[in-house]
Amino acid sequence: MTALSPLTLDNKGKPTAGRPIAIFSDFDGTIFMQDTGHILFDHHGCGPEKREYLDESISTGEKTFRGASEEMWGSLHVTLDEGFKTLKSHLVMDDGFKDFFNYTTQHKIPFNVISAGLKPLLRHVLDETMGEEQSARIGIVSNDAKITEDGSVWTPIWRHDSELGHDKAQSIQDYKDSCVGEIPLIVFIGDGVSDLAAAGQADVLFARQGLKLEQYCIKNKIPYIPYNSFSDIKRNLHVLVDGNENHLKSDDSITVSVAPSGSSSIPPGSNYGSGSSSDEESVSSLHSIEKRPPLRSMLSGVAYAV
Ligand SMILES: [Mg+2]
Repeated sequence: MTALSPLTLDNKGKPTAGRPIAIFSDFDGTIFMQDTGHILFDHHGCGPEKREYLDESISTGEKTFRGASEEMWGSLHVTLDEGFKTLKSHLVMDDGFKDFFNYTTQHKIPFNVISAGLKPLLRHVLDETMGEEQSARIGIVSNDAKITEDGSVWTPIWRHDSELGHDKAQSIQDYKDSCVGEIPLIVFIGDGVSDLAAAGQADVLFARQGLKLEQYCIKNKIPYIPYNSFSDIKRNLHVLVDGNENHLKSDDSITVSVAPSGSSSIPPGSNYGSGSSSDEESVSSLHSIEKRPPLRSMLSGVAYAV
């Protein structure tokens, strides 16, 4: 029997060749090496000790992810502007990300951030680090937030009414349900606890080496590809993109189409959310019904690397 090359088949055992691709990437610890929330909590909120205690309480099951997160965000006392200044001096982007993102733009591969964080922060960080034009090409699927002008009250607006606050698996399933025509091959990139539920939804899964998502994949025999930087992911993505008629290289500027307000249809090749908060909400507000199958039923296929 001939050994199959990695990425010849997706995680469900279906051939990958020639299929349109959509990428969903975690933000904290994935695109950036640090966690936006942790930086803010440590400098302007509950402090590192309490933050570590609350993080631990999620691991032990004492608190839900949403409950502990709500305490951490609620501890903040900083204006958005001051918070951004702190983030700017502490956040480091994955050194391969910009080149990787340019590659997805050249090949018209939709790229979406999918995060357990807060949209106003994520958008601002992307605007600052990528420039607003590049940032606007990145969809954001995440929680939202209400922040008072004086920074004294931070209230997360959870995307889902669940213990996670944002169930990434549900968001990906919603995206699939919203697609017109062929459902793209879902490439998911992540690193940690907030990515575990989505791992079973991915057709191709990248997990940062040595962290919780990778450990979860090994434990649950979920096929994944380890990475240390987005340069590694780009090298692997070539296998899916080279010769793929959906993603021929083009120097034309990419046009991001967004589902109009009140529509649940995502045109092929489009990002899930646009650069504008209102458009993102018009998409996210459509999804409320749990439709995904149990995680257990999706755990199949042969591990690429374990
Ligand atoms: Mg993360």
